[in-house]
Amino acid sequence: MRATVLMCGKIFDGVAEELAGPAEILVEGKRIKGMGRSVSRPPGAEVIDLSGRTVSPGFIDTHVHLTMDASRLVLQTLESSASKALKGLSLAREYMAYGFTTLRDLGSADPEWPSIDLRNAINAGFVEGPRLIVAAHILSASAGHGDLGGFYNSRWTIPVSAIADDAGSIKALVRREHTFGSDWIKTTNTGGYFSAGDDPARVTWFDNEMEVLTSTARQLGMPVAVHTGAAEGCKQAIRFGARSIEHAYLIDSEGLQMAEQAGAYIVPTMQMTQEDLQELETGTLPCQAVWKFRRDNEKILASQRLLAGSQVKVAYGTDCGMFPFRHGILEFQAMVKAGLSAIRALKAATSVAAELLGRDDLGVLAPDKLADIVAMPGDPIADIGATAKVDFVMKDGIVYRESPRRSDASVRASNKRTAPQNV
Ligand SMILES: [Zn+2]
Repeated sequence: MRATVLMCGKIFDGVAEELAGPAEILVEGKRIKGMGRSVSRPPGAEVIDLSGRTVSPGFIDTHVHLTMDASRLVLQTLESSASKALKGLSLAREYMAYGFTTLRDLGSADPEWPSIDLRNAINAGFVEGPRLIVAAHILSASAGHGDLGGFYNSRWTIPVSAIADDAGSIKALVRREHTFGSDWIKTTNTGGYFSAGDDPARVTWFDNEMEVLTSTARQLGMPVAVHTGAAEGCKQAIRFGARSIEHAYLIDSEGLQMAEQAGAYIVPTMQMTQEDLQELETGTLPCQAVWKFRRDNEKILASQRLLAGSQVKVAYGTDCGMFPFRHGILEFQAMVKAGLSAIRALKAATSVAAELLGRDDLGVLAPDKLADIVAMPGDPIADIGATAKVDFVMKDGIVYRESPRRSDASVRASNKRTAPQNV
């Protein structure tokens, strides 16, 4: 079995409140076999010197859109599903070079299943890329955030949205997601900022519709992620058992308390707000977003500060696809800017994100966990900006990116595979 020893300078194990190290990690096959001040070196083990680096569990981004490109959404409609899957693969591999070894994709605007095909191809080993967990489509009421019809003239009936307006159709949409392989159900219960013809401050599902959607998902064993803005939308999502509350743009302290009590996770996508603020300043924010974001941006930042002061479980998610993937790593810095501690931001992208996904084999460095391991120069607790300097990425025990030199004595045939280009 392939064995690798990582000599680590400092270690963030995903759960401790501070960094430890120096230490060594023994990886055998896909898993971490041992960890300690020093570990045994099986014959033929490859030794990688990360002694100048901080080592962390691979990062998890719980909110991306690999097959949705907001900057050219209407033109993208003309592309085939296969084309979207292949471009999504390229994005996923580039993103993995930043340290993201697991992604949750929260929806495509394609009538077919490009993100499911992509997940399956990676899982089967046909192509290399980060581990994907997928909600294929964004279920919505018509005139809700997931109703993309507003981007097109009304004479075009283009199948870009998964919308329903009565209980039977809502059930059918949820069941269809299950049939064709979605891991999660993604829905929206308020409008959004980028979408045309809706308002993030308004709730779009009635309680009885949300009840039908979540109970059907529950019956099928599928967790639910809810895009939500209005404080009432956040509370509705929590009341009906959403496992993750996406954005929670306008959440108030009552909503945060409800989330804490329910054990719901909030994925606050704070870098997106920074991107939107910048675009508002430079006049490049799409016109349908300008009035909403101008009205709400102060409130969104206030909600983010409330969240930073709460005990709620925060998971790392970016909404990349709505803005460039190369900015996804900046969510760490946006979280700290909003008032979260660096250690809480690091946990958000590792152990807490893994817990949200129900994956106890990920997000923590410990024996028997999957060997998804990244390393960066510097100390991310002292300077969260270190997270943007990841230069070593291992997933499932295979090295995908490696800048540090291997120690000469034990270097064997490289197990390095086709790595993404440096970013
Ligand atoms: Zn999204």
